[in-house]
Amino acid sequence: MSKNILIIAEQRCDRVQNVTFELIGIAKELAKVNGAEVEVLLMGHNIAGQVSDVVGYGADRVILVDDPCLASYLTEPYAQAATEVIRERTPGVVLVGASSIGRDLAPRVAARLNTGLTADCTKLAMNEDGTLEMTRPAFGGNLFATIVCPDHRPQMSTVRPGVMKKCDFDASRSAEVVHKEIAFAPQKIRLVEEVKVCSVVDSIEDAKILVACGRGVGNPTSIEQAKNLANELGGTYCSSRALVDACVIESCRQVGQTGKTVRPECYVAFGISGAVQHLAGMEDSDYIIAVNKDENASIFNVSDLGIVSDANKVLPLLREEIEKLSRA
Ligand SMILES: Cc1cc2nc3c(=O)[nH]c(=O)nc-3n(C[C@H](O)[C@H](O)[C@H](O)COP(=O)(O)OP(=O)(O)OC[C@H]3O[C@@H](n4cnc5c(N)ncnc54)[C@H](O)[C@@H]3O)c2cc1C
Repeated sequence: MSKNILIIAEQRCDRVQNVTFELIGIAKELAKVNGAEVEVLLMGHNIAGQVSDVVGYGADRVILVDDPCLASYLTEPYAQAATEVIRERTPGVVLVGASSIGRDLAPRVAARLNTGLTADCTKLAMNEDGTLEMTRPAFGGNLFATIVCPDHRPQMSTVRPGVMKKCDFDASRSAEVVHKEIAFAPQKIRLVEEVKVCSVVDSIEDAKILVACGRGVGNPTSIEQAKNLANELGGTYCSSRALVDACVIESCRQVGQTGKTVRPECYVAFGISGAVQHLAGMEDSDYIIAVNKDENASIFNVSDLGIVSDANKVLPLLREEIEKLSRA
């Protein structure tokens, strides 16, 4: 058993997904504790061009499984390839993104390897003896549970997208690339058709500025103003679960424990109370501005700047000021 950390990369539509780079970022930090190496398993078809992306973000070694059977994500061949590679490489830790693909793949791989899996982690820490402390929200986000896997290896964890920080990209990095052939078992499942949904929604995880609306700005005029404000600031809008449940804002824009985790440079929250489940998704933002008419609202506990006022009045004033600045 090696002490290395292996990341199962996620690539879709010919692009390695951001969560993979974030996992490399945290793996580099963990690896410093016990001198481990960070390996990335890249699976797909005609994906050699993506190797430089994972290397640039910090992979020490790339295990490349390039096969027509892996052209589209299917549970069986991906689980077979990942299991075989892990058995051969014997990493001490395996990290997978807690995306829809990762959530499908990781438990199957863990079961085949007869090891445990801590799902949906928001924090990871490495002990000098190689024990990984995996922390995730529990009991509806009201407490955080730290879980270890003392008796089985590898220690496996899925990690929420947007939580960990990726390293700066370094195009001059190089790494060993190991090509691995897999004799795939006959497929029981055949992909009949793949329908790509072209999302017109800009990703809230990638935005540098987020304007967030909560129940306190539940009227259509204010929500429209918040969207415009986000646009003028060069960012995008998001919301608490209250407005998603009310079908006012799309679910892909929900921030929080059951939504997305974001860490923009600036998060502006209008009429959001700051429930623990919401804070779990945004409290690591660089700068948080909150507008709430209740001076005791919990959102102020995590805010850098708090405005105790009616959000419906602040929104037009703020837009006016920004318009003045952009004209100046
Ligand atoms: C298992 C579980 C998972 C959950 N996951 C999530 C999640 O992922 N994301 C999430 O957001 N929530 C989540 N929730 C729900 C969460 O507990 C809260 O109910 C939700 O975040 C509340 O949204 P809110 O702050 O918009 O609304 P409220 O809690 O109703 O707060 C509205 C706030 O607006 C203020 N306000 C009212 N009028 C104005 C005004 N005119 N101007 C300024 N301020 C005003 C009020 O003072 C209040 O603080 C989850 C709950 C559970 C149990």
